Amino acid sequence: MGAGATGTSVLDILVRDLGQVAPRAQEHEVTVFDPTMRFGPGRAYLPGSEKALLNLPARMMSVRPGDPGHFVDWLAERGRGPVTGGEFLSRSIYARYLEDVVAAAVSTGRHSNVRVRLVGDRASAISRATDAFAVHTAADEHHCFDAIFLCPGTTEPVDTYGLTGRPGFVVDPYPLRETVSRIGSGQTVAVLGTGLTAIDFVLELAGSGHQGQILAVSRSGYLPSVRYPGPGPNLLATSDDTVLTLAKERGYLSLLDIYRVLRAEFRERNVPMSDLWHELRSHEDPAARFLRHVDEARGGSPWHLVLIAVARYLVDKAWHLFDDATKAALIHQWHGVCARLCAPMPQESAVELARLLRAGQLQLVGGVEMVTANEHGFLIDTTSSWHVADCVVNSVRPRVPVVPRRARQLIGSMVRDGLAVPHPFGGIRIDTDTGLVQDATGSAVPGLYALGELTVGERYVETTILGAITRRAAQAVKHLIDRDPALRQERP
Ligand SMILES: Cc1cc2nc3c(=O)[nH]c(=O)nc-3n(C[C@H](O)[C@H](O)[C@H](O)COP(=O)(O)OP(=O)(O)OC[C@H]3O[C@@H](n4cnc5c(N)ncnc54)[C@H](O)[C@@H]3O)c2cc1C
Repeated sequence: MGAGATGTSVLDILVRDLGQVAPRAQEHEVTVFDPTMRFGPGRAYLPGSEKALLNLPARMMSVRPGDPGHFVDWLAERGRGPVTGGEFLSRSIYARYLEDVVAAAVSTGRHSNVRVRLVGDRASAISRATDAFAVHTAADEHHCFDAIFLCPGTTEPVDTYGLTGRPGFVVDPYPLRETVSRIGSGQTVAVLGTGLTAIDFVLELAGSGHQGQILAVSRSGYLPSVRYPGPGPNLLATSDDTVLTLAKERGYLSLLDIYRVLRAEFRERNVPMSDLWHELRSHEDPAARFLRHVDEARGGSPWHLVLIAVARYLVDKAWHLFDDATKAALIHQWHGVCARLCAPMPQESAVELARLLRAGQLQLVGGVEMVTANEHGFLIDTTSSWHVADCVVNSVRPRVPVVPRRARQLIGSMVRDGLAVPHPFGGIRIDTDTGLVQDATGSAVPGLYALGELTVGERYVETTILGAITRRAAQAVKHLIDRDPALRQERP
């Protein structure tokens, strides 16, 4: 259910693995639902934008976890080489890659007894039938499946100031190209939020030849940090099980433990911790800070490289070791600053934003307190100033991700029937070892898997990183095939 990058990865792995276990004996059928009728790109890449870039280099964007070079090879085959894998490519190219993976899965399936059906419909309810699941769709169709992978994707931005319906207000900037096409070239545009989505929009707008002023507005006014183009350092003082050992001492992992891991790595490389504390404070003018980051990233600022290396280490190791109070503190007090520093933007994007800032077309506005609409447009109040804009484009993410709009009816039906339970930190409860959805009795539901941001409460930040998502997809498919005696017997 859902054909974004997550669903595409599941499809690719499933078709290949089923093709291996059942070459002749039995035909399998895999059905993919997505109401957009575009199978592959999902929300993040649909319809592709030429100006907005992927946040990760090409070598980290394969949807096939066993084959990290899959995307780079695809690029090379299409004459886009030489590709080193370090390039940050446009979202539109990535959308084409995802669509090709889906098309290749359909064709591979044809040759290996796995029939793939692509259905442009929205799943609206799931219930348990004997040994199977009954699925109801928005088009009032009924289907029956032995197993289901729920991949409904990412949360849309939230309308913090209640502006929905006001002329000139755009609640969600995606699809970028469509949003940009509706904005007059000379208009003053305010973007609410200064995260990666805001950057995507600003780059797309500026790239379209927009002449008017662009304000990027948030509480801090700070943009994400800037990525160092090289691979970054390895950890020196931290081993694979460091956090596990730290957590054992107390029974759970604390923020103090994370501080210890950081301090050990900073010490080992002779980088003063005060460099990091400096970045956590909000005393600097947003534009000055960003331009400083752009300059520092060219050589790789030591504090940032160490921080990113530690963050990468912690991505899938730490969250489940925290107790609930620490998780809540992370979400409510630390998430913003961690995301800003640990999910950097590509240098190419930073260079273009710096140009726009220096030219005076882009302004970073911090301290926002209220945004209101009037007959002339919008008024933006901050702690120290006010600004006017002709239109406001919203990119504010909810602190705790909610289920995306298209999946609310579906997940709501599951919760009502006791087939799923909402997680207090977002998404639904799952068994973290297998990815199986947990029902109201706390039991894992055999054959019902959840992936991507729907599992955010249990898996947190790893649900936004493609490599981690596809690893989980492979685990879930393997679990499904291993648990099915008929499939196991057919394994060569
Ligand atoms: C704007 C944005 C940019 C990102 N950029 C990057 C990046 O550059 N690199 C990176 O690693 N990660 C990036 N991410 C993180 C991203 O979460 C993953 O990389 C990945 O794209 C998520 O894919 P997905 O399939 O889970 O979600 P989505 O892309 O949201 O796709 C979900 C799909 O499910 C469908 N769907 C929803 N409900 C139903 C239903 N009831 N029935 C049927 N279909 C349904 C939707 O129509 C949609 O097509 C980005 C995320 C966002 C939001």
